[in-house]
Amino acid sequence: MSKSKYDIIIVGAGVIGCSLAYYLGKLGCTDVLLVEREEFAGTGSTSKANGGIRAQFSTEMNINMSLLSMQLLDAMEADMLSETGYRKAGYLFLTADSQRWQILQKNIAFQQQHGVTVEPLSRQQIAGKIPFARTDDLIGGSFGARDGFIDPNGLMNACLTRALAMGITYLPNTNVIDLLKSDGSITGVRTAAGDFQADMAVNCAGSWAKEIAEMAGVDLPVEPVRRQIVVTGPTDKVPRVIPMIVDTDTGLLARREGDGVGLAYSNPDEPAGQNWIFDPEFIEVVAPKMLERFPVLEDAGIDFRLSWAGCYEVSPDHHAIIGESGVPGFYLCNGFSGHGVMHASAAGFVLAEMLVKGRAETLDIAPLSVRRFADGKLLHEMNVL
Ligand SMILES: Cc1cc2nc3c(=O)[nH]c(=O)nc-3n(C[C@H](O)[C@H](O)[C@H](O)COP(=O)(O)OP(=O)(O)OC[C@H]3O[C@@H](n4cnc5c(N)ncnc54)[C@H](O)[C@@H]3O)c2cc1C
Repeated sequence: MSKSKYDIIIVGAGVIGCSLAYYLGKLGCTDVLLVEREEFAGTGSTSKANGGIRAQFSTEMNINMSLLSMQLLDAMEADMLSETGYRKAGYLFLTADSQRWQILQKNIAFQQQHGVTVEPLSRQQIAGKIPFARTDDLIGGSFGARDGFIDPNGLMNACLTRALAMGITYLPNTNVIDLLKSDGSITGVRTAAGDFQADMAVNCAGSWAKEIAEMAGVDLPVEPVRRQIVVTGPTDKVPRVIPMIVDTDTGLLARREGDGVGLAYSNPDEPAGQNWIFDPEFIEVVAPKMLERFPVLEDAGIDFRLSWAGCYEVSPDHHAIIGESGVPGFYLCNGFSGHGVMHASAAGFVLAEMLVKGRAETLDIAPLSVRRFADGKLLHEMNVL
């Protein structure tokens, strides 16, 4: 039974809200209400994610978020009964283009300077790693051995289960319809099940975050953008465990997905909006890219029933927006732009520090403040997938 006043209310129980609840609990803050409008946690973007985790980014901020997440995931794997599914199968970026190869080499040097486990690979080394792919045209690639995969709902459930065990309260089937205000501060949430007061409310509403922010009068530049995954039919021509393969020339990503292979591609023309429906015509876009790099998949065909779509929650500079909103009592943890699962652990950890200790001690997240948009201090991530 939920009470009517809490220290902290979290709006949205996806991987971000559950991670925050878990790390708040670890800091001894358990007077927390986690409100979710659906029956089950994690049915939003979290359930649609590809589960990739990588530190091969182009900004120090995104690299640091990944490295902290990897460290926390290692600790969780050792500590938890539940499985986060962190599997270090690697991320393998490839190119057959000499200019892109120059960029990739610069990226590798930058990433290595910032503590990323990443190395350049020759065409022969790539062929050794992925003999099932066409590699004769390649110039080089980069491989991050600590990169790989997480089970998005596994991670979320691991966090939620532990948070519940520590005493936080979970309220499903409850839509937040407004935020409570007093003297210019946010003092709680209004739901279909009644009002709940809190000292702090945190927006963890994923691709719906803009709507929650509007309730506080905060202009949050986060838009939903559809992202689709095409899944092939079963194939035994690809090993059961392969890295996330990123063909930087075509923009195609490939990974094992059950008995088939999951193929992702970020359509630059995709309009913003809540569109969660898989478009079969997307296969026409992906198939030529697939056949160019993985002709071996031609026989596998495409499984329409297993292919899916979901929404990224995209910020203008492809970095998360974490911390104070500018309105007292109202905090943000939004806009992960396709990195929300891989950065959930770091985000929950540092925001919990900020809420409980008054400051994010482990990582300087000041550059992720929403103020950066008004101040014109945008970050610039080049490795957007
Ligand atoms: C196809 C696809 C592939 C992806 N691949 C990757 C990947 O490889 N790696 C990676 O790191 N990320 C990936 N992502 C991105 C990742 O899924 C998201 O960044 C992440 O899940 C965001 O988590 P969240 O908790 O913020 O959002 P969500 O999981 O969407 O959770 C938000 C929750 O808020 C709830 N909510 C919203 N409004 C209200 C309200 N008014 N009242 C109460 N509750 C509310 C929703 O019901 C929802 O449960 C991918 C996304 C997609 C769509």
